[in-house]
Amino acid sequence: ANLPKDRLRLAVQKSGRLHTDSMDLLKACGIKIKSPKEKLLLHADNFPLDLLFVRDDDIPQLVMDGVCDLGIVGQNVLEESALERGTANAYVSERVLDFGGCRLAIALPEERPYASVKDLAGLRIATSYPQLTKRYLAQQGVSADVVTLSGSVEIAPRLGLADVICDLVSSGSTLEANKLRAVETIFKSTAALIRNARPLNAEKAHALEIILRRLDGVQKAAG
Ligand code: ATP
Ligand code: ZN
Repeated sequence: ANLPKDRLRLAVQKSGRLHTDSMDLLKACGIKIKSPKEKLLLHADNFPLDLLFVRDDDIPQLVMDGVCDLGIVGQNVLEESALERGTANAYVSERVLDFGGCRLAIALPEERPYASVKDLAGLRIATSYPQLTKRYLAQQGVSADVVTLSGSVEIAPRLGLADVICDLVSSGSTLEANKLRAVETIFKSTAALIRNARPLNAEKAHALEIILRRLDGVQKAAG
């Protein structure tokens, strides 16, 4: 790709649950970025870093393909994408971050009895994370049908699209509103800073070192 040789390119979520925390983290690291608004690509004024604003789902691929050097993305999205590509080592996780916390959980309609994971056998499970869900079921030795939906997973049981779901939970209020209860946590996640697995050139490596040093100071102070 035709990238500037001396500026790091970082993919961040354009809008959504990770956007503000990602921007706040960069700010806390002393990196000045003018308000994103409509731009796809922004240059930091005082640091050799450019930001690309994209959907979170695109971030693992942008980093693994080398379009971006770095990305801030949920480990849930990252692991799903790595499993799908079958190349978990096309990226390096530089830092686990202290925001974006959530868990991927199997949830059932409140009235459905549940004693153990064996009760999932033969059911249809709706999820946006088919790879993580299938891996969990295989690990548990349970065979069930995984139905992939890109959104609104929590209404699938009511629509008759599935018996149960596997979806992200942070507070549980969405589950409650849909009369579902979480029974198994299959993956715990926070945001992470990832890097393409190939070595950076000297300028970029130096810039990354500075970012990581500042980030460690910021996260230690916050944590
Ligand atoms: P995009 O438009 O970028 O595709 P999205 O709707 O897929 O956005 P968000 O809902 O903004 O994504 O969530 C982004 C990430 O935030 C999730 O992948 C997850 O890592 C994290 N997250 C934290 N808490 C939650 C939660 N309660 N529900 C969903 N995601 C959460
Ligand atoms: Zn998304």
